[in-house]
Amino acid sequence: MHSQTQSRRVVVIGGGPAGLMAAHTLARGGAQVDLYDAMPSVGRKFLLAGRGGMNITHAEAYEVFVTRYAKAAASLRPMLDAFGPQQVRDWVHSLGVDTFVGSSGRVFPTDMKAAPMLRAWLHQMREDGVRVHTRHRWLGWNGSALRIAGPDGEVAVECDAVVLALGGASWARLGSDGAWIPLLAQQGVEVAPLAPANCGFDVDWSSHFSDKFAGDPLTTVAIVSTDASGQTVRKQGQFVVTASGVEGSLIYALSAALRDQISANGSTQIYLDLLPDLTAGRVADEVARPRGARSMSSHLQSRLGLKGVKAGLLRECTSAAVFADTDQLAAAIKLLPVRLVRPRPIDEAISSAGGVCFDALDGLMLKSRPGTFVAGEMVDWEAPTGGYLLTACFATGLEAGRQTLSWLQNSTNS
Ligand SMILES: Cc1cc2nc3c(=O)[nH]c(=O)nc-3n(C[C@H](O)[C@H](O)[C@H](O)COP(=O)(O)OP(=O)(O)OC[C@H]3O[C@@H](n4cnc5c(N)ncnc54)[C@H](O)[C@@H]3O)c2cc1C
Repeated sequence: MHSQTQSRRVVVIGGGPAGLMAAHTLARGGAQVDLYDAMPSVGRKFLLAGRGGMNITHAEAYEVFVTRYAKAAASLRPMLDAFGPQQVRDWVHSLGVDTFVGSSGRVFPTDMKAAPMLRAWLHQMREDGVRVHTRHRWLGWNGSALRIAGPDGEVAVECDAVVLALGGASWARLGSDGAWIPLLAQQGVEVAPLAPANCGFDVDWSSHFSDKFAGDPLTTVAIVSTDASGQTVRKQGQFVVTASGVEGSLIYALSAALRDQISANGSTQIYLDLLPDLTAGRVADEVARPRGARSMSSHLQSRLGLKGVKAGLLRECTSAAVFADTDQLAAAIKLLPVRLVRPRPIDEAISSAGGVCFDALDGLMLKSRPGTFVAGEMVDWEAPTGGYLLTACFATGLEAGRQTLSWLQNSTNS
């Protein structure tokens, strides 16, 4: 394949993890690769992901791992079979960075950072001949040429194949702004609307509650909610009360189904178990104990340790009548209804759902534009946080590179 693809020129647009992986695969396969990115440097979201402790992949059993991609699992599976959690870890090691498995099964680079990995990776890519052009924005096509606007104005770039890896639409200031959607729609490419994924939600808090508790974390709570298949699910973890609602890992883990329920019904309800380590019976017994002259609030604090934001939530989400009735109050502590009214805007989300539909693709090549491939978050899949996002970006980037090489070889032969 090397000799036949050597003189072929491939353009990759987008220097996130998916585009970088595609570009490196293509260069190692013998193509001449030019990578364009609109931003002044590549990998900005990848670097941000490293700021809070980067999960690169997940160490759970592979069969479970694949199910995290929900509806897209079958489409992604062959790519994850080729470049799944173990291959991601081996590849990170090949960059000279060690990894470890955290207690949750999440896999991290040893120093939890993205910058050393990105530096080593870009160094390898340069050695392998990838040419990176930053501050170059792709604007669409003019016939067969790519319209690219750089610091010296717009140029028409001709090439033998293209990989688009333009990301979703969260954190637009890092480069992925979803501006590609009309450009692909004009080409007849079916794109599912982008929606926030791994996102927070708005709750109509009273100003008293939000002024007092915004920013307070709820550690050790459980949420009972309904999943995408209509089943009741219960998950324990942590989240944060914000001025406008709720956010954090426990909320993100449930967010895809909650977002879809709000989209279908206008709002949705979750139930909080404020004391997940105590049984309902124990809570009921403690609430019912005589409290003498103490207020109910100080009774709950002394008998059950309910104080701060947990006590505030209980007050916020129960009526005066419930608060005055020990049975109903005990039930509310174990199952407190909180109504979510809308997801936070996509720009604040960790990732986006939606994107180029698998039906619009032949492998990862656009059916309506042969020779143009897509990879990464711009394709219509979503996954929870925990390393699943980056793993699928790497896997689709690698596969887009491999499919481009095969396509170039076949078009050379025919
Ligand atoms: C705060 C935060 C933390 C995260 N933490 C994790 C984590 O720990 N683990 C995990 O698995 N995932 C994490 N993610 C998600 C992960 O970073 C993304 O899923 C991943 O970066 C998507 O890769 P991508 O290559 O598809 O797109 P992106 O990384 O978004 O890259 C797209 C690139 O395309 C460029 N571009 C877009 N349009 C154009 C254009 N018209 N012309 C030229 N260039 C263009 C952009 O400038 C950008 O560089 C996190 C995300 C956020 C926001």
